[in-house]
Amino acid sequence: MARDPRYDILFEPVKIGPVTAPNRFYQVPHCNVLGHARPRAEAANRAVKAEGGWGVICTQEVEIHPSAELAPYVEGRLWDERDIPQHRLMTDAVHEHGALAGIELVYNGFHASNLYSRIAPMAPSATPVHAVQPIQARAMNKRDIANLRRWYVQAARRARKAGYDIIYVYAGHDMTILQHFLKPQYNQRSDEYGGSLENRVRLTREVLLEVKEAVGHESAVAFRFATDELMGSHGLQAESEGRDVVGMLAEIPDLWDVNISDWGNDSSTARFEPNEGYQEPYTAFVKTLTSKPVVGVGRFTSADAMLSQIRRGVLDLIGAARPSIADPFLPRKIDEGRIDEIRECIGCNICVAQDMLSAPIRCTQNPTQGEEWKQNWHPERIDAAASDDAVLVVGAGPAGLECALQLANRGYSVTLAEATERLGGRVSRECELPGLSSYARVRDYRENLLRQKTNVEIYLDNRLSAQDVVDLEIAHVLVATGASWRADGVGRQHHFPIDGIEAIEVLTPDDVLAGAQARGRVLIYDDDHYLMGGAIAELYREQGHEVCLLTPASIVSAWTENTLEQAKIQQRLLALGVELAVSLELVSVGAGEATVANVYAGDRQQKIAFDSLVMVTSRVSRDELYQELIAFEDRFKSLRAIGDCHAPGTVAAAVYDGHSAARYLEVDADPYAPLYVREIPQI
Ligand code: ADP
Ligand code: SF4
Repeated sequence: MARDPRYDILFEPVKIGPVTAPNRFYQVPHCNVLGHARPRAEAANRAVKAEGGWGVICTQEVEIHPSAELAPYVEGRLWDERDIPQHRLMTDAVHEHGALAGIELVYNGFHASNLYSRIAPMAPSATPVHAVQPIQARAMNKRDIANLRRWYVQAARRARKAGYDIIYVYAGHDMTILQHFLKPQYNQRSDEYGGSLENRVRLTREVLLEVKEAVGHESAVAFRFATDELMGSHGLQAESEGRDVVGMLAEIPDLWDVNISDWGNDSSTARFEPNEGYQEPYTAFVKTLTSKPVVGVGRFTSADAMLSQIRRGVLDLIGAARPSIADPFLPRKIDEGRIDEIRECIGCNICVAQDMLSAPIRCTQNPTQGEEWKQNWHPERIDAAASDDAVLVVGAGPAGLECALQLANRGYSVTLAEATERLGGRVSRECELPGLSSYARVRDYRENLLRQKTNVEIYLDNRLSAQDVVDLEIAHVLVATGASWRADGVGRQHHFPIDGIEAIEVLTPDDVLAGAQARGRVLIYDDDHYLMGGAIAELYREQGHEVCLLTPASIVSAWTENTLEQAKIQQRLLALGVELAVSLELVSVGAGEATVANVYAGDRQQKIAFDSLVMVTSRVSRDELYQELIAFEDRFKSLRAIGDCHAPGTVAAAVYDGHSAARYLEVDADPYAPLYVREIPQI
């Protein structure tokens, strides 16, 4: 199919200083924890996006000097000449597909703890380091400032040698020293680098000019700048100093890459920023102050939203991190008139969580993300079927849908049986929770493609028994029947059922999602610590119930610190009037009353009254069908449980498992220990 001519403008080249981007699709710098530890995986991860049509592909942040290094996080590294070859892997791979390669050089100042180099971190003024570590950063003297300027220029020269077309100077996310100099909160200097905005901007100006002088004849110099920190007068604001900085530096960089700070605001989840283009109110002014091209982000996944940004003169280039992770082929799909095949980011920040955990990137929507080199997985290509065998997939949640789709892509004839009347399993229910409607995209993307396949038959309202499965006489069976929430309280804190719980009526998230009505005052016990407890609290509070959220953790929805949502969830629940009872565990429950104890002092006990009790603790695999089928194993060529039926986990884990099962069907390998390659340091 051909592209809709309305979108032609998205495919226009854009001149950026001495280089030209082939189109307006711009993968802004984003972390993937492949970086300096896994350079081949890094190159393959970026190359696939260049192949998918992104005109510019950037690295993650790349350390320029050991005095600001991010261990235990794994980002990029360009400390000296020895780091150049691994960057060459990336730039060559990106250039091969006709895209430009950009590098985000960074000096993190007191955002780095230097746990590897052991060098005392530096900051504009003396301050504890950003992470909760017993480490302080020292105030920089004039010699330190001169050194920093020199390190920037040296790193830029190395970046040029490594083949980068766009070289960044970076002041954003509350993470980098240039931004620290800009902020009076961090910069209390009395010399020419502190005080007035002119003084606080001085170092950025010097670095920009010196980097331009060093490499600007060959590479474009981009300035990544957070125009607003959403902190009111406690941070930079687009309406005051944020705007002034753009005005003062307007024509110096070849490209303005603008966003909001900190990372939690820039990469806001769909729960807190449901709309595409949510940064526009803070960045739209930039183009009025500079003649240089401007790139910005806002979780753009639709061609129309992108078009609107360009047409209205908000941006020149459509920046994307997460949309490019969820669909590395997004530009190609627009170009080829396949818009309905775009795998839209759901804004869940599982990708971000991996970075927070110092683990290689993964994505809920795109199970091949991070596996491009390790398992040689491609987001748009998969090996053809090894035989003419038919395959049965039982259960159409995220695991079953992804598995069926990929098996169909391989060319197998697929039967997909689902017990209920709709596809999607857990995501079809969870997307009804406050703020989670985008989770339905996990279903919608797959359902749309599956419905177009001639080699797939879908049977809804078809709960299969073991005998049904045997009678179908299908060679390969994949059981994706999901998991159920426990009602007895067993989870992380409790390894045995809670005293008294069997005698009272309890709601589980499954009941809540099936529409169970709560009575009066609702007590939610959250020993799961991800989204569910907080989301149910929000749901019942919005229905007018008095709600108490009880958790053994010291904060609510504790794991969502990794998705950058925790503080926002806690704020929202407080604003809604949800009572938060933290560091407390359930001891026993009776009719209308729970006894709880402080997790650090078990003898400190109290009573909490309730009319309805919701237990959000852990899940058990719904694997009865699979267990029964094991007795008939000789009737199949292969039988496997996948997704939550195999082991309950995230939606991302279920999609991955479904994908993996499809890839490895009839491949001579241990299905639970895939054949992946590893990057082993050479001795
Ligand atoms: P996962 O996250 O692993 O995909 P889900 O719980 O989201 O798991 O989805 C499992 C799906 O399997 C649900 O839609 C459920 O209705 C369906 N299912 C469960 N048991 C059967 C069965 N015996 N036959 C057909 N479908 C089933
Ligand atoms: Fe989007 Fe979630 Fe994938 Fe990240 S993990 S790119 S937020 S779908």
